[in-house]
Amino acid sequence: MLDASARPRRLEWQSAVVEAIEAQTPTVKSFRLRPERWGGFRAGQHVDVRLTAPDGYSAQRSYSIGSAPDGSGTIELAIEEMRNGEVSPFFHEVVEVGDTIELRGPIGGHFIWDVSIGGPILLIGGGSGLVPLMSMLRHRAIVAPEIPAVLIYSARRYDDLIWREELFHRRDKDRNFRLIVNLTRESARPGLHFGRIDADRILEAIAEETSWITYICGSNPFVGAASDLAIAAGLAPETIRTERYGG
Ligand SMILES: Cc1cc2nc3c(=O)[nH]c(=O)nc-3n(C[C@H](O)[C@H](O)[C@H](O)COP(=O)(O)OP(=O)(O)OC[C@H]3O[C@@H](n4cnc5c(N)ncnc54)[C@H](O)[C@@H]3O)c2cc1C
Repeated sequence: MLDASARPRRLEWQSAVVEAIEAQTPTVKSFRLRPERWGGFRAGQHVDVRLTAPDGYSAQRSYSIGSAPDGSGTIELAIEEMRNGEVSPFFHEVVEVGDTIELRGPIGGHFIWDVSIGGPILLIGGGSGLVPLMSMLRHRAIVAPEIPAVLIYSARRYDDLIWREELFHRRDKDRNFRLIVNLTRESARPGLHFGRIDADRILEAIAEETSWITYICGSNPFVGAASDLAIAAGLAPETIRTERYGG
């Protein structure tokens, strides 16, 4: 029989203080949070956030952690405002620096990357599906910059690219990192592609290496389409990990 210490720890709700808020795009804000008790996390994990109204009604949603595991005791979320949504508009319109919110985590055991998993890593993100991939990229840059990484990032417009300046900066200074951007609703800018991710984009990404470990994150339709393309490009299904945000 398992003794109490060997049983999996039940995740408790706890409060977290909002230390900083930054507009990343017209529809995405990032939130730096300091949870009361925080034992760290692995790149790719998420937290659950719970809002409770004065009458007791509560709503709960998941949000990926975008920061790298850095021992700071804080985490960064990036939340896209969904028109008519219950929880994301609250973050955009009501939450202020100094407020306290309720969360539990970290959560997730499959959609994670650390150096023991190795590489090369192919990251494919649609919209806010970039968030856990950013945590992986940031973590890789700290612990294993020699591991090749490619990010294929699809967004509607140039202005919708989350952490855009940081991504371009990483692309320019990290010779083992390649960034491929597709804009679906704005004609191409120099160095960026127009339209949805297609098979050519995946083949271009994987041409120089073999044995890719692939992470795909975004809405249900995005993850379905990108997974099909990855498999059609010859990547083994058992090397592809996915995280679906809904929608
Ligand atoms: C593991 C996990 C991690 C997530 N991480 C993030 C994150 O880092 N950043 C982030 O912004 N979101 C993330 N999400 C999505 C998030 O949990 C919510 O679903 C989202 O914020 C909408 O919540 P809401 O209460 O505002 O809208 P709701 O009231 O739930 O829905 C409003 C409307 O939007 C639609 N909708 C809901 N979610 C989506 C979606 N993803 N795409 C398209 N339409 C949708 C619904 O069908 C509905 O019509 C994550 C989801 C999961 C499961």
